[in-house]
Amino acid sequence: MDNREYRRARVFITGAVQGVGFRPFVYRLATDMQLTGWVNNSSAGVTVEIEGDAAALHTFIRRIEADKPPASFIQSLDVTWLDPAGYTDFTIHESDPSGEKTAIILPDFATCPDCQREIFDPANRRYRYPFTNCTNCGPRFSIITALPYDRPNTTMAAFEMCDECRAEYENPLDRRFHAQPNACPKCGPHLGWWGADGKVLATHREALLAAAAAIRGGEIVAVKGLGGFHLMCDARNDDAVTRLRERKRREEKPFALMFPSLYIVRAVCDVSELEAALLTSPQAPIVLLQRNHNVGTRYIVSLHVAPNNPYRGVMLPYTPLHHLLLAELGFPVVATSGNLSDEPICTDEREAVERLRGLADAFLVHNRPIERHVDDSIVRMVGGREMVMRRARGYAPLPIRLREPVKPLVAVGAHLKNTAAVARGKDVFISQHIGDLETEPAFDAFRRVIASLQQAYELQPEAIAHDLHPDYLSTQYARATGLPLIGVQHHYAHVLACMADNELGAPVLGVSWDGTGYGTDGTIWGGEFLRVDERGFDRFAHLRTFRLPGSDVAVKEPRRAALGLLYEIYGDAVFDRHDLAPVKAFTSAEMNVLRGMLRRGLNAPVTSSAGRLFDAAASLIGLRQRCSFEGQAAMELEFTLNGVSINDTYHCELRGDSPIVIEYQPFIEGLIADAGAGVPVGVMSAKFHNTLVENIVAVAQRAGIERVALTGGCFQNVYLTERAISRLRESGFTPYWHRRVPPNDGGIALGQVVGV
Ligand code: ZN
Ligand code: ZN
Ligand code: FE
Repeated sequence: MDNREYRRARVFITGAVQGVGFRPFVYRLATDMQLTGWVNNSSAGVTVEIEGDAAALHTFIRRIEADKPPASFIQSLDVTWLDPAGYTDFTIHESDPSGEKTAIILPDFATCPDCQREIFDPANRRYRYPFTNCTNCGPRFSIITALPYDRPNTTMAAFEMCDECRAEYENPLDRRFHAQPNACPKCGPHLGWWGADGKVLATHREALLAAAAAIRGGEIVAVKGLGGFHLMCDARNDDAVTRLRERKRREEKPFALMFPSLYIVRAVCDVSELEAALLTSPQAPIVLLQRNHNVGTRYIVSLHVAPNNPYRGVMLPYTPLHHLLLAELGFPVVATSGNLSDEPICTDEREAVERLRGLADAFLVHNRPIERHVDDSIVRMVGGREMVMRRARGYAPLPIRLREPVKPLVAVGAHLKNTAAVARGKDVFISQHIGDLETEPAFDAFRRVIASLQQAYELQPEAIAHDLHPDYLSTQYARATGLPLIGVQHHYAHVLACMADNELGAPVLGVSWDGTGYGTDGTIWGGEFLRVDERGFDRFAHLRTFRLPGSDVAVKEPRRAALGLLYEIYGDAVFDRHDLAPVKAFTSAEMNVLRGMLRRGLNAPVTSSAGRLFDAAASLIGLRQRCSFEGQAAMELEFTLNGVSINDTYHCELRGDSPIVIEYQPFIEGLIADAGAGVPVGVMSAKFHNTLVENIVAVAQRAGIERVALTGGCFQNVYLTERAISRLRESGFTPYWHRRVPPNDGGIALGQVVGV
């Protein structure tokens, strides 16, 4: 086609393109470029007819994708080239009210810059209004009760728009055109300030000021936000933070922080351009940032927020309510989910008064109901781009698009960090983070989430995919549905999730390392190399196995993993090695019990877990013998690498064939020797990590598959992942790691869908 040729293009766009400011955007783009034609909403998407020079039309189409409104999501964009129709201007056509609306449910988005300006502008009618939103921002997923996405199908149904809001809502050129949650101080929701017993003490602006005063005074305030409650307190106040830890029964696990501004974040943390962009993005996740060492940092954020941790989980205000509260305070607050440990986040204020009894001193609430819980997402920079570690607000439930369509399916995920998923055609809709299915409330939430996903997408599943572990509650749930069951091996699901995240086809060598997953042989896997082809997988290599005395108890006791591993290497001789940190960490009575377990193999399952190998290493170098949460020892092992830059390794050895076994004896002996010689912890940790990476490269060379997928909870470790990426590249491989879907068990549901 000659680029100067005058043409007409018909562009048909599907996805989340309604109620997100799409038509005004197309209108502005076309008129800016002096192109003619029209735009309208058809039953299934947006149609644009556009006329002009072919070159300009190409630019126009490219800019639709590049500059689309922040809240929109394009699923497909098809172009038909036609002869010119002779349009003289560009118009917005009335939408066709018939036909079904888009079935894409959008995530909740952080307050846009325009709305932020309005709430801080004394002349604006939304000055200080905590529920301001527009088509570019505001609640979606957390307030939708049914499809199509229209105001009556949201929790805003009970609020009747005033004349002014209605006029905005109906004006195609207004930023609030079809903004379903549109509201103002006259017609929308408002705040309430409740005492610990649920008694109303203040409303509106007074409620916000009372909450700010309480936080300033060192109290713990439960704040109803977008997808649930936060427990907030002054992040500078050691006392308040410590009290929150005691009440939440959370000894050491880091608390997330909300800062008034990026400027103050930079006083406490190192923030790269990419990290700043993430913090201020419509997703506005919690970003894990390196703490800097400026003098006075601890006066801005108490060290109790994240003990022994060089990272801070930081977010910026993402609703007008948060903006107003944080502007009032002017200092960062702890903003941890409003729940008891392991329970899902609270969403209803009456329920919160019951469930958060004893946790919160008072409640800042509002009367816009939350339809479903949505936690804050957590993101970390890995290999120069973001990696989602907890996928919820801002991301869920946007679909992941598969290469091939699948039959209608439900996938129930694993057990910890659970998410579920439904699949329809090429789209997989992964639920928001649900959490560990350890408590009854969590299991309730899990059932509700699956029911609501199925209902939202009107899905009649033909089968249900689940983990092979027979005891997982998710597996039991799948069985009880009566649907045809499809079991997908845990580590295979991890690899498939990583492949889907990267839109990658077979063949792939999957490096699937995590804490636990049920293997096809009934043992606990966790240090796996899976060769994946079009038909399935084979276990190409794995870590040498060892016994884990005490099974699940060992997850919180690295010394047990270390003892099991040493027993595998040295047998009974290990019980006399009183020079070793893990052996020293047990009393003789405890040791008697463990000796019995290991000798008889009772309550001491065989495992090839890489997660437990990290624990064992942390124990052997004397870093940590007990944990207060899973993965803590491995995390701290990673933290010791801060500022260490060495390329030394211990000896690396592969044994046998089909499957190949990674022999850890040489590097465990190396660690023991170094620990005995007083080598610095960071150096030992670096050598340990480097050795594991060399093992990955060695196995990849044996497999001879170019594409290597790094997946499983262990690859949340930045050092391990980044070093594996660079060493694999140096060795001629193409490494892939996670981006939109977590490498941890939050990604399992996606992998199960693909594995069917
Ligand atoms: Zn907005
Ligand atoms: Zn209004
Ligand atoms: Fe896993």
